Amino acid sequence: MVSSKKVCVIGAGVSGLASARELLREGHDVTVMEQSSGVGGQWLYDPRTDGGDPLGAAGAHSSMYASVRLISPRELTCFSDFPFFPSNDGTGDARRYPGHAEFLRYIRDFCDAFGLMDVVRLNTKVLHVGLAPPLAADDGVKRWTVRWSRRGDCEGDAVTTEEVFDAVVVAVGQYTQPRLPTISGMDKWSRRQLHSHSYRVPDSFDGEVVVIVGFHESGKDIAQELSGVAREVHVSVKSMEGLTPAVSKAVARHHNLHLHLQIECLCEDGQVTFADGSRVVADSIIYCTGYDFWFPFLDTGGLLTVDDNRVGPLFEHTFPPALAPSLSFVGVPRLVLVPRFYEAQARWVAQVLSGRRPLPSSEEMMRSAEEYHRAREAAGVPRRLSHTVFFDMDYCDEFGAKHCGFPPLEGWKRDFLSSAVARVRDGDVESYRDSDLVLEGLRSEGW
Ligand SMILES: Cc1cc2nc3c(=O)[nH]c(=O)nc-3n(C[C@H](O)[C@H](O)[C@H](O)COP(=O)(O)OP(=O)(O)OC[C@H]3O[C@@H](n4cnc5c(N)ncnc54)[C@H](O)[C@@H]3O)c2cc1C
Repeated sequence: MVSSKKVCVIGAGVSGLASARELLREGHDVTVMEQSSGVGGQWLYDPRTDGGDPLGAAGAHSSMYASVRLISPRELTCFSDFPFFPSNDGTGDARRYPGHAEFLRYIRDFCDAFGLMDVVRLNTKVLHVGLAPPLAADDGVKRWTVRWSRRGDCEGDAVTTEEVFDAVVVAVGQYTQPRLPTISGMDKWSRRQLHSHSYRVPDSFDGEVVVIVGFHESGKDIAQELSGVAREVHVSVKSMEGLTPAVSKAVARHHNLHLHLQIECLCEDGQVTFADGSRVVADSIIYCTGYDFWFPFLDTGGLLTVDDNRVGPLFEHTFPPALAPSLSFVGVPRLVLVPRFYEAQARWVAQVLSGRRPLPSSEEMMRSAEEYHRAREAAGVPRRLSHTVFFDMDYCDEFGAKHCGFPPLEGWKRDFLSSAVARVRDGDVESYRDSDLVLEGLRSEGW
C-alpha cells in the first residue's frame, strides 16, 4: 500500500528542489528548509565572501565567483523533462555554456513550473537533526526531530523551533566547506591566504604575485582570470604528468603564468618554495583544493560518518543502511550529470518512502556499500573520491532503471556528453565554451 509521509528536505539547491518535486509527485507532505533568502544553492551568487575567515566557510554558502560559466552544456545540465532552453524574450544568456545567473533563472523557472515555492521556507537554517523518541515502545519506526532557526526581518530576531518528521532528506550540497592541504609554514605565512570558496572577483589582485594551489576547474578558471591583472601567477600542481596538452598550451600562451610542482614550504617573509626547488615571493595564495562533505547539524549517534570525504556507510550514495529509509541523502555523487542524477536519486527516495519500492535489508545494503568501496579501492580510486562517478553513464542509467524506473539518457545526449567531455580534456581550455558545438541532430529536439 502506498502511504504519504511527512518529510523535511534540508536545502533548496537543485538536489533539494528535485527532492521536493519528486516527493510531492509521490503524494508526500513536504517542507523544504533553506537557510538563504532564495533558492538555487551554489547558483545563488553571493558577493560577500568569507566573513573574515578566508580559509573557512564562515560567511557564505555559495562558492561561485563572478565569472563562473557552466562547464557542461545547457542541453545536458537540466532535469529529465524540463529542458534548459534560452529564455524566449531574449533577455537571458543564450550561450550554450551560460553564466551562473542564467542557470539560477532556470532553477527559479523550475520552481515556478512545479509550484515548489509553496513548500519552501526561506531564511530557515537547520541547526540539529536527531532521532525522535519512539511514539510507542514497539513501533520500531525511526522519526527525526528537526530544530531550526528562522531569521526574522530585524537583525537578532531569529526564532528557534522544532518539529518531528517521518523522514529527512539531506540535500545541503558539497562545495562549501574548504578542503585545505597541510603545508609547512602555512600557519606562519603572514600575507593573504584564501580558499577559492572566498574568491569572487580579480580586482584586489591587481599587480600582485599570486600562487594558486591546485589546477582543476576552479584553479584553471581563476589562474586564467588573474593572469589578466596580476603581475605573475604561479600554479602549483601535484604532478606535471596529469596535465593535458591543452592545459600546457594554454599556460604557454600567458607570459606571466608559470607551473610548479607542489609547495614544499611557506616562509614568514612571503617566500614560497616549491618541490622542484623554484622559489617566489608572493603577495597572495589561493587554495583551489576542493571541498569536504559537511553535515554539522546531523546527529546519528555515530551511525554515519565522513572519513576523508567518504560519507559512510551509504547504500548507492543515498541511504545509510541502519537509518534507512527515514534518513537519505540526495546530491552526494560527484561528476554525474546535474541535476539529472540527483533527480533520479530523489525519485527513488520518494518511492521508497511511499512504500512503492522496497529496500534490501540493512545487512544487504551494508554489504553492498562495502563491496562497492572495495571494488573501487582495488581499481585504484582513492578514498576521497568514493562518491565520484566520473560520468559513468552506464552506472547512472542502471541506477535509475534499477531503483525507480528513471529513463536512460537519450542517445543524442550520450554522444553530446562524450564530445563535451573530450572538449574539456583535449580542446582549448580557454575557448571550448565558445566554440560552435551545434549538432544538427539536436534541432529536431527543439534546440
Ligand atoms: C564554482 C563552481 C562551479 C560549478 N560549476 C558547475 C557546472 O558547470 N555544472 C554543474 O553541473 N555543476 C557545477 N557545480 C556544482 C554545483 O554545486 C551543482 O551543480 C549543484 O549546485 C549542487 O546542488 P545541491 O543542491 O546538491 O547543492 P547546493 O547548490 O550547494 O545547495 C545546497 C543548499 O542547502 C542549503 N543549506 C545548507 N545547509 C543548510 C542548513 N543547515 N539549513 C538549511 N539550508 C541549508 C544551502 O543554503 C543551499 O541552498 C559548480 C560548483 C561550483 C562551486
